[in-house]
Amino acid sequence: MSGKSGLGQVADLVRLAPAIRRRLGLALWLAGLGSVSSVVGLVCVAFAVGSLVTGTPELSPVLWWSGGALLGLAGGFALRLTAEHLAHEASFEIEVVWRRMIAEALARMPLGEVQRLGSGRIKKIMQDDVRALHNVVADALPFLGSGVAQPIAALIALGVVQWKLLLVVLLIVPIAMLCMSLMTKDYSEQRNRYNQANEDVNAALVEFVQGMPVVRTFDDGGVSFRRFSDRVNAFTEAVAAWSATSRPSGVLTKLFIVPLPTLLLVAAAGVPMLTAGWITVPELLVALLIGAMPIEAVSPLMHLTNYINDSKAGAARLTELLEMPAMPEPAEPVEPKDASIVFENVTFGYNDDRAVLSNLDLDIPAGTVCALVGPSGAGKSTVARLIPRFYDVTSGSVKLGGVDVRDIGSEKLLQHVALVFQDPFLVQGTIAENIRLAKPDATDEEVYAAAEAAAAHEFIKAELPDGYDTQVGERGGRLSGGQRQRITIARAILSGAPVVVLDEATAFADPENEALIQNAIARLTQGRTVLIIAHRLATIVDVDQIVVIDDGGVAERGTHADLVAAGGRYAALWARHEQASRWGLSGTRSKETVR
Ligand code: ATP
Repeated sequence: MSGKSGLGQVADLVRLAPAIRRRLGLALWLAGLGSVSSVVGLVCVAFAVGSLVTGTPELSPVLWWSGGALLGLAGGFALRLTAEHLAHEASFEIEVVWRRMIAEALARMPLGEVQRLGSGRIKKIMQDDVRALHNVVADALPFLGSGVAQPIAALIALGVVQWKLLLVVLLIVPIAMLCMSLMTKDYSEQRNRYNQANEDVNAALVEFVQGMPVVRTFDDGGVSFRRFSDRVNAFTEAVAAWSATSRPSGVLTKLFIVPLPTLLLVAAAGVPMLTAGWITVPELLVALLIGAMPIEAVSPLMHLTNYINDSKAGAARLTELLEMPAMPEPAEPVEPKDASIVFENVTFGYNDDRAVLSNLDLDIPAGTVCALVGPSGAGKSTVARLIPRFYDVTSGSVKLGGVDVRDIGSEKLLQHVALVFQDPFLVQGTIAENIRLAKPDATDEEVYAAAEAAAAHEFIKAELPDGYDTQVGERGGRLSGGQRQRITIARAILSGAPVVVLDEATAFADPENEALIQNAIARLTQGRTVLIIAHRLATIVDVDQIVVIDDGGVAERGTHADLVAAGGRYAALWARHEQASRWGLSGTRSKETVR
């Protein structure tokens, strides 16, 4: 698809909405017909005036031609107006259709892919790219109808009325073509450079603003500001280069791609022809009125091409997203028998180059807690992501309640598995709505009970201005990290899912919050099957099973006591933890993790 022209890509995207496509097709035709009608109207004007000025004017031809002129011009106007209206309406609808398609594609896509795309990119496609395409559909497509039909109709009409004048008008065409090719070459090269520089500046600006807290902590901002200012300089250079190279072609354009040279040429050639009796006055008038139309269409058509080319990158992004393969769903979903989790000989890689997990076996009986520990990058999060099918295994299988997760159906699967991640996700809305996401029909009492169990009720009541009705921002900006985490734990508790996949937070390490979160987690995990990615050994001493993951496989497994006694990697980690705790007791609080 990437080899396609901008117009081809936009057309393919429009084709995805057949009903709207038909209306846009109609708009194109109406715009074209409107232009033809205007050309006919102008021809009639020329003959009406011609009838008036030549010989003894007779009323009836003047009236006929004037009527034709009125009909042609008014009809042309009405048709073009209708076309614009249709295209505008369709462009709004197609925007909605595309956004819905994006949402549906995201819903079908493996969750891991959605995560990989990232909210920034998805937002850009959903908002900016769709909006840019809307503009193309609303403004550019109807113009395509008139921009192409009008010059063709003008040339045909002139040929029918007087072929000698058509030849005169055609003399200007090679010059116009030359200007156009010069302009297109300069224009698209420089414009691409400009667009790239513009995207770079935007990216640098986002990076500069987003990184500000980090930047201000670690340096005086000089480095990242320099990066930003370098990009701005590159952008300024691109603009200067564009305007410099487009200057000569701009002058050429102004000279030739305007009606004046054609009119002068027609007048210069037409008057002697008239005197010689080769042509008539109305014919000359026709040439003067419509002869410049092909030239007049060049410049807007150029803008149209650029307009469409500018939306090409966005169209490609949107197409790529819509074409992403969906997560395969089972024909007949199977209900899991219990809440046990089993990994059987699982191999998985994010891409074909490298297996992140190799032949991994894991058995978490229903109602037990399994903690994963291991160095950073070992594959702990990957193991966790395979349970709710963020990705599908390359080989082997992940089973929930004895059923391969691929046979459960994603909706049902997510009803069985509650996820609590390090970066708690809150939607825009009230605290109550955020907790209720897990169970939309939950009563207020159920919501309060879940919040209470998650050690969140207290702060919601005491610290938030409107209690459970307090609005939270997209990422829960008003709440502390620990508070957000407890809201998501409340959500998981309310869901009642028998399996919990939990990535223990490392970030919110103030002792009070930590204790509250630990209590909340203890209540969440009661009676459920839990896979916890542990970052603090102290929290997992009592779990049923500890699995040390290293290099995509199981390095050790057992209870805390077993593993300490075995004297292997876990024992070494534990010794380090003990030592750090002693340091913590005698000085600053320990913040060690098991990485
Ligand atoms: P940490 O404790 O730092 O979170 P982890 O043990 O959870 O690490 P994973 O996040 O599972 O490790 O990562 C395992 C490997 O897979 C790493 O080499 C990582 O770079 C790679 N990886 C993780 N996520 C992706 C992804 N979305 N695409 C490609 N590679 C990935």
